[in-house]
Amino acid sequence: MRLVLIGPPGAGKGTQAAILGKRLEVPHISTGDLFREHVERRTALGRDAKRYLDAGELVPDHVTGGMVRERLAEPDAQRGFLLDGFPRTVRQAHTLARILTADNRELDAVLEFTAPEDVVVERLLSRGRSDDTEEVVRHRQRVYRDQTAPLLAHYADIRLTVPAVGPVEEIADRVWSCLPGAA
Ligand code: AMP
Repeated sequence: MRLVLIGPPGAGKGTQAAILGKRLEVPHISTGDLFREHVERRTALGRDAKRYLDAGELVPDHVTGGMVRERLAEPDAQRGFLLDGFPRTVRQAHTLARILTADNRELDAVLEFTAPEDVVVERLLSRGRSDDTEEVVRHRQRVYRDQTAPLLAHYADIRLTVPAVGPVEEIADRVWSCLPGAA
């Protein structure tokens, strides 16, 4: 199964992707995690990306696209994947489509996680990641509204909406029952 997860920062995509990845036995690929690993390992890509992460801005496409292309070429991603945090713009969606069609692959579905902004901001402020200061959190919400939300229309044909407020297990069940081919 090849899935993309979209939702505002703090909607719990990462948590749900980890649960779902285990259930479907496909890798959970989070571009935010990949960037943070690069920053930690002090790679050249990490040095390029760091100031964007710190500011809550999108890392430029030439950096992001190459990283995703390489990750999706890894053997474990051949059976399927959950993409969490990519694409984040319509332009990145076109990049993803090119990567997949080159290998005769296509997406099965796009899961949209919805939650009110005050709920997600509250969650992020209690999480305490280094880019979770109030100013950066608010900025990341703005970036989501301006740059990522237009993607939802782009994926209207294969989009499934999951309300992401409530206990983690309940949301996981909602995700599972809305998937194509769900039991
Ligand atoms: P996340 O872990 O998804 O909240 O992402 C954390 C940060 O990583 C974002 O605020 C961006 O700086 C960067 N990032 C993650 N995914 C992308 C992407 N698809 N395009 C550009 N920047 C990204």
